Amino acid sequence: MRNKNTFHDPVLKVTGLSARYGKVTAVSDVDVAVKSSSIVTVIGANGAGKSTLLNSLMGSLPLSGSSNGSIEYLGAEISGWQVERRVDEGISLVPERRELFGSMTVEDNLLLGGFRLHKAGQKGWRDTIDEVYELFPRLKERRTQYAGTLSGGERQMLAVGRALMAQPRLLMLDEPSLGLAPRIVREIFHIIGRLRSTGVAILLVEQNARAALQVADYGYVLETGEVVLEGPASELADNPRVIESYLGLGKKKA
Ligand code: ATP
Repeated sequence: MRNKNTFHDPVLKVTGLSARYGKVTAVSDVDVAVKSSSIVTVIGANGAGKSTLLNSLMGSLPLSGSSNGSIEYLGAEISGWQVERRVDEGISLVPERRELFGSMTVEDNLLLGGFRLHKAGQKGWRDTIDEVYELFPRLKERRTQYAGTLSGGERQMLAVGRALMAQPRLLMLDEPSLGLAPRIVREIFHIIGRLRSTGVAILLVEQNARAALQVADYGYVLETGEVVLEGPASELADNPRVIESYLGLGKKKA
């Protein structure tokens, strides 16, 4: 993947971000920072504003939505940029719905992920596929299989692999654990942990606080659109309020 040594840190610095749908405020005055080679998680319940936050950062809010505040990426203010430019500059979002092409093979889905690099004339863009296959041997085994026939966990792996094909500097993941069995969640989060060593900055939005805080370096707790707590992930995992609301016994995790 790209040489990440020239990184501007933090890769992402969000200040005072608010997002609305019509008159309804879904994200309110949020500050978040993500450095290279680190994993930052935003945890929160259903409707806390997690997807809205990621869509604001990606510039892909639906028509009824708008956002304001500062989004600095590699030192540049990008809040006025279109989504295409954000993608071209190395921001990737793996959306909650995964959005794969079911009637295309695993390999073709991956190659599509690298299409912008191909278009930009970047030599060797195809080689990234070997790194993706190394991270996800299961995708290599299934490279000629149609994406539509993959299991839920494999689809999630493919969605992450496809995002990596674009060689992102900022990778944003929207609830990668959604709908997956605990064993598969562990497998995927283990791979997310390994991505740190590639230098990419990861922003991981999750309802599964336990899994997210285990893999992350730093975390934020989002409640009704506001950051109510933040700190090193290990400290958040010991915080009584987090334990009570997000890690308590008997709470069902996705
Ligand atoms: P989940 O974990 O259920 O996906 P979330 O934390 O990602 O939840 P969001 O999807 O960001 O939460 O939603 C935040 C709030 O914004 C919710 O009250 C939701 O109903 C509202 N909302 C989201 N999308 C829209 C939309 N397109 N139009 C109007 N309101 C919306």
